[in-house]
Amino acid sequence: MNEEYDVIIVGSGPNGLAAASYLQKQGYKTAIFEQAEKPGGAARTEEITLPGFKHDLGSAVHPLAFASPYFKTLPLEDYGLQWIHPEIPFAHPFEDGTAFGCYKDIRKTAEQLGEDEQNYLDLLLDFVEEWPELEEDLLAPLRLPQNLEMMFRFGLKALPSAKFIAERFFKEEKSKIFFYGAAAHSTLPLSKLVSSSFGLVLNILAHRHGWPFPEGGAVKIVDSLLAYYKDQGGKIYLNQTVSDLEELPSSKTFILDLTPKQILKIKNTDLSKTYRSRLEKYKYGAGIFKMDWALDNPIPFTNEICKKAGTVHFGYSKESLEDSEAAAHENRLSSEPYVLLAQPSLFDSSRAPAGKHTAWAYCHVPNGNTEDVSKHIENQIERAAPGFKKSIIAKSTLRTNELQELNPNLIGGDINGGKQDISQLFTRPIASINPYATSNPKIFIGSSSTPPGGGVHGMGGYYAAKSAEKFLQKK
Ligand SMILES: Cc1cc2nc3c(=O)[nH]c(=O)nc-3n(C[C@H](O)[C@H](O)[C@H](O)COP(=O)(O)OP(=O)(O)OC[C@H]3O[C@@H](n4cnc5c(N)ncnc54)[C@H](O)[C@@H]3O)c2cc1C
Repeated sequence: MNEEYDVIIVGSGPNGLAAASYLQKQGYKTAIFEQAEKPGGAARTEEITLPGFKHDLGSAVHPLAFASPYFKTLPLEDYGLQWIHPEIPFAHPFEDGTAFGCYKDIRKTAEQLGEDEQNYLDLLLDFVEEWPELEEDLLAPLRLPQNLEMMFRFGLKALPSAKFIAERFFKEEKSKIFFYGAAAHSTLPLSKLVSSSFGLVLNILAHRHGWPFPEGGAVKIVDSLLAYYKDQGGKIYLNQTVSDLEELPSSKTFILDLTPKQILKIKNTDLSKTYRSRLEKYKYGAGIFKMDWALDNPIPFTNEICKKAGTVHFGYSKESLEDSEAAAHENRLSSEPYVLLAQPSLFDSSRAPAGKHTAWAYCHVPNGNTEDVSKHIENQIERAAPGFKKSIIAKSTLRTNELQELNPNLIGGDINGGKQDISQLFTRPIASINPYATSNPKIFIGSSSTPPGGGVHGMGGYYAAKSAEKFLQKK
């Protein structure tokens, strides 16, 4: 512990691990300090209901990790990471018993939309084909795009609200609901600017890569990253809450896998008054109420499409979806919330004892709200899968305060490290040419509070590491 480091990374979430593994591989001497007893931040898998039932405490569905330009460069398969691709990336059941599946095949997906078949293709097909060029700019800080014309076309559809795009492109209510299911991952009211971008990116990823998850759960992403990092000579210290940089071993630089509220509390960061006051203005988004179930049987969906999908979105009318996502920002709860559910054990037998199953779900609630909304979530699922409630053997719930206790980055239950609205999506934590740098040249931020924001992709950590590397090279 008395050693001298080139870089100390505070926090071992996907961004902290990305930063640490990149710099260690470049030959820098690094160490990670993590407050929890286990690494991984919001990407962990544990038996929280019954023995043998492995639940993802945080992230469960990983199109962003699979597509991550940084993770793709690492030999994570050699360290045990195996991807599972459900037959259908995601599905959305409707009140009349029908459902749409978002298949990897965009044309097969579009065919389900009847009158809106061509409209779906008009909205997405070009970008599905152009994705390799687009992803480099989208999963990066705001910068001059490599292909300006393409980014301009993308921006025209991504910058408006999901509501505007749904009305402009689709005639049928079901098509609009289907688009809302992906757009609502934004955790923004669907009438807000840039909420469309989440629908576009997540649909494009489904058609381009699928929505895979690791065999054994999210922890396998963390385990493989950590094993790779340790193989390069990296060190991790667990159960180490960092509250004062002077209590850490000496280091030339620090990368904080933290959100602004936590950074402001750390002593001896020597951040300027102006920088601190800009961090103080940082906004957090809605929280979530999280549920995990141990089930006696697969979820008894009436529609076959839902039985083949890794992820299922719930919300039975356009209005109820709009209201649910607005409510989370208006300090009220919806009794018919938008619900996001994953059913990994259907595709990964290691997640539950033989014949049994796990399911994972959450809905958005106001930041810091601690009411129990399990009955609303379970009612939404039961509507498409009568008998679901009877199949529950055990369950776990996590309110916003419990999520934050588990991982201090989840401020008020916000799982994206801060609101991802137009004012903060590209310019987080502050508007700056280098958002990873702080007013102290030795301190960098590499977390979901930096571009490209929430999700398991490690790109915030990677770009913070690149910034720290530049500083170290100049020394
Ligand atoms: C319930 C839930 C569901 C999600 N679903 C998905 C999903 O399906 N797909 C997806 O891509 N993303 C999902 N996410 C989001 C994703 O998990 C996060 O965006 C991602 O983990 C952010 O990574 P990070 O490294 O920035 O921060 P985190 O993963 O939050 O890691 C931060 C780390 O810092 C540590 N730390 C905090 N304070 C200190 C301190 N003072 N000293 C030392 N260590 C400290 C924490 O303990 C933690 O380990 C979900 C998140 C949650 C909570």
